[in-house]
Amino acid sequence: MSVKKRTHNPRLIRSRRTYTAQQIAILFNIHLGTVRLWIKQGMRLLNPNSRPYYIMGIDLIAFLKTKKTAKRKKLQEDEFYCVRCRCGRKSLPDRITVEVTNKRLGQSARQIIIRGICPDCGTRIIRFSSDKNTFWKPTLPQEGQVLIGNIPSPVNIDITKETKE
Ligand SMILES: [Zn+2]
Repeated sequence: MSVKKRTHNPRLIRSRRTYTAQQIAILFNIHLGTVRLWIKQGMRLLNPNSRPYYIMGIDLIAFLKTKKTAKRKKLQEDEFYCVRCRCGRKSLPDRITVEVTNKRLGQSARQIIIRGICPDCGTRIIRFSSDKNTFWKPTLPQEGQVLIGNIPSPVNIDITKETKE
């Protein structure tokens, strides 16, 4: 199965031309909503007070360039990648949950899943980390996570003592 990679070829854009959102959508074969999102995300408009919106080719190129760089940028410790905004976002603070999973990472660490909500678009956002990362504190009960058998119970210790004596 091949995954169709979405690229917006800047060579399709003429820098000195103006485009409507619709024309950009047709040009890149994308949804009009995507172009509207770009405007929301700060793509420069020729005149924000006029309808329909016009975008200069050169501003469209600049916006896509910034977007590409932002995507490559590593997320901050408290950021999540929002698939809808297509960039790093901090979650709504009261919507963050941190769950410790059973998945082991190396010798002693476990994978943790941090879930949140994008404050800009309301999409669920998620990131993975390790429980060694003290930045995130587990918020969900860790039932079944207790390492049964590793810690000798006091009863067993007593029995061993008795047999030795
Ligand atoms: Zn978002």
